[in-house]
Amino acid sequence: MSSGMTMIPKPPHRALEQEQFLKILSREEALARFETALFPRAIPSERRKLVDALGAALAEDITAPIDVPPFDRSNVDGFAVRSSDISAAGEGAPVNLVLNGETIRCGIAPTLQVATGTATPIATGGPLPRGADAVVMVEHTQPSGSDAIEVRRAVSPGQFVSYAGSDIARGEALLRAGTIIGSREIGMLAACGVAEVKVARKPRVAVISTGDELVQPGGALAPAAIYDTNGAIVAAAIDENGGEAVFLGAIPDDEAKLEAAMRGALKDADMLVLSGGTSKGAGDLSHRIIGRLGQPGIIAHGVALKPGKPLCLAVCDGKPVVILPGFPTSAMFTFHDMIVPALRQMAGLPPRSDAKVSATVPVRIASELGRAEFVMVSLVEGRDGLIAYPSGKGSGAITSFAQADGFLRIDALADQMPAGTEAEVTLFTPHVRVPDLVIVGSHCTGLDLVTARLAHAGLTVRSIAVGSLGGLAAAKRGECDLAPIHLFDDKSETYNTPYLAEGLELVPGWRRMQGIVFRKGDKRFEGRGAKEAIAFALADRDCIMVNRNQGAGTRILIDRLLAGARPDGYWNQPRSHNAVATAVAQNRADWGMTIAPVAHAVGLGFIPLAEEHYDFALVTARKPRSAVQAFLAALGTDEARAALERAGFRPS
Ligand code: AMP
Ligand code: MG
Repeated sequence: MSSGMTMIPKPPHRALEQEQFLKILSREEALARFETALFPRAIPSERRKLVDALGAALAEDITAPIDVPPFDRSNVDGFAVRSSDISAAGEGAPVNLVLNGETIRCGIAPTLQVATGTATPIATGGPLPRGADAVVMVEHTQPSGSDAIEVRRAVSPGQFVSYAGSDIARGEALLRAGTIIGSREIGMLAACGVAEVKVARKPRVAVISTGDELVQPGGALAPAAIYDTNGAIVAAAIDENGGEAVFLGAIPDDEAKLEAAMRGALKDADMLVLSGGTSKGAGDLSHRIIGRLGQPGIIAHGVALKPGKPLCLAVCDGKPVVILPGFPTSAMFTFHDMIVPALRQMAGLPPRSDAKVSATVPVRIASELGRAEFVMVSLVEGRDGLIAYPSGKGSGAITSFAQADGFLRIDALADQMPAGTEAEVTLFTPHVRVPDLVIVGSHCTGLDLVTARLAHAGLTVRSIAVGSLGGLAAAKRGECDLAPIHLFDDKSETYNTPYLAEGLELVPGWRRMQGIVFRKGDKRFEGRGAKEAIAFALADRDCIMVNRNQGAGTRILIDRLLAGARPDGYWNQPRSHNAVATAVAQNRADWGMTIAPVAHAVGLGFIPLAEEHYDFALVTARKPRSAVQAFLAALGTDEARAALERAGFRPS
């Protein structure tokens, strides 16, 4: 701090910033206001051909226009008869019937009457001729000359006959408005000869991303740019919920351009969804534009949700206009929680029925008081039921969504969810997908090389990165099969074994060379040994380090090297080997400690220090499970060992 304090210029839109979230509404209040402003409303409908109606909501009650079947129909191949003719037939008392001179196949209308003492050959699906009241199966008859049969079994009236209208009766209510048309409904409509139905027209939802930093997938990423994630996920979520998304691309933070885009979008669309620009920094414009687009305008700006506080809900001349938060996870949560109910209602669809399960939370989850908080979780099977591991990586993360099984909600009035809480988890999928193999602990890119073989064999592997100590705790509680750990014990100067508890056994994994990383050419480090390099680093007050989080095996090494020193950067404590390498590569720090494969992948200089043992604490009780056996087998294959070596690891 001593060298050169720079004056930070005043931000240009001070007044704008002070508007920030003047009135934060609770989630329930915001939902209620949005709903009141939008409903009731007429749902526009359109006629659609049956083939195009799949998934649509029926907009009319449908009454059966005909009987199905339309005539009395034979269910078997056989002979149409008068049941009274053969009521006395039996094995010892065959009855002779004379055949009429026609055969009734499907699609052939009968012309001859079945008179007493006669029978007419009839195929499955053929219309019953006048006079007949039952069908005798061909298997229960014998030819008797060329134009008669012998029947040795009695039939009751109506046997093997489906009467007209017995399936669907003319005038019967066939389908009700609001029914979602699936293949079964299409079948019923087709059977009645209905070729077109009136269905709710899909609401057209225009989607706009905002931000100077956004590049569409497929384009080249300039420095400090990011790919537009929200555009794709919001459009997909709209289609998933009965809307028709019209993606209009990313618009830069330019008031005139954005206003033109929003006005253009609202001309054709029933609804407009924007994302980004809601945190009301200098570049945040959309909410100001909304005020000019129609009445009543903004009805909620700022909702007590986490993630998702900057959500903005508006209605402009009857059309919902929504600004989702910029961070993809926040955008997704707020869209599903706050917008999907309105969208489905506009699409004539019933509310979504999400599957829910109950699961125990193994760790305490801190939560902000005053905001309803959604926490994504991964489910694993514990000793007594499901365990829900929080898997969120912050509201900016997108992978949390893909890897999580569902989410739980922490009430706005709670400041935490204590460990051991039995929580209700809303699933992202219709059923719980319990993985075959559960790995909880420290993550390593080498692990993917081993588990790839299992994935190819059709086994699902769930790997939850919580660090070595977190993994060990999970293994002791029996919540995982394997806990990858790399824990150095100061006293015995050995790795991992001293940390094992009863019920756990060590499976040797591989060695990872840890060392100091620096940018190539940095004279403070280049060509020096570790101790010497650290001495140089500590002597230079401009030299910034990057540390590791408490509990990481690497952190123990760093603290030993530093011997109590706290150089600048000590409190920068990222949680992964990759983050350390990136910080040094991007010049945010000058040195840190990471593993050789990661250092080399980023092109950094590397001073080897100590080999770290990356092993697995195996829960002995779960050893017989076939997925565990498959993992152990995969670990031992030449193929996996060679892949590990190629990546810079040394298999044990
Ligand atoms: P904003 O509300 O515009 O300040 O955005 C908040 C954060 O979300 C910033 O880090 C943006 O870069 C990010 N963000 C905004 N829009 C998108 C998008 N469409 N895709 C991915 N990230 C976004
Ligand atoms: Mg922005």
